Amino acid sequence: MNLRCGIGYDLHRLAEGRKLIVGGIELPFDKGPVGHSDGDVLAHALCDALLGAAGLGDIGTHFPDTDPKWKGANSLVFLEHARKLLGQKGFEIEHVDAVVIAERPKLGPHFPRMREALAKSLGVTPERIRLKAKTNEGVDAIGRGEAIASYVVATITLR
Ligand SMILES: [Zn+2]
Repeated sequence: MNLRCGIGYDLHRLAEGRKLIVGGIELPFDKGPVGHSDGDVLAHALCDALLGAAGLGDIGTHFPDTDPKWKGANSLVFLEHARKLLGQKGFEIEHVDAVVIAERPKLGPHFPRMREALAKSLGVTPERIRLKAKTNEGVDAIGRGEAIASYVVATITLR
């Protein structure tokens, strides 16, 4: 089996007046990520993990934040594009393991919907997508609620 792993990381500052989108769904909260697109840290880290595993560069190469086309973009579009690129190279997504770090709100209760949304964009079953929530124990910018971050490891195979 021709197995590849990729890692992705992303962080966005949180500010009032922005929608909090994580894993393709909107969460009720008074702050949201500052970013050119919708600022979905989980989708962005996942996109980088997939592109990295396939040797296809990173999210910035495919969706430059200087391009007005991606202003306010739904980041699931990035995942759908990554899926297409991987498919063209003969790669199949085997497994995704992710950590999302935020002091608030509680993310765990929203994971089933996030897994559904991400899985749909990637054309896999939700069983292949695993999510974990962490706080930063009050330490640093994430701990003060000023930022949200995500780490993702993606495993793909070449058919
Ligand atoms: Zn991002």
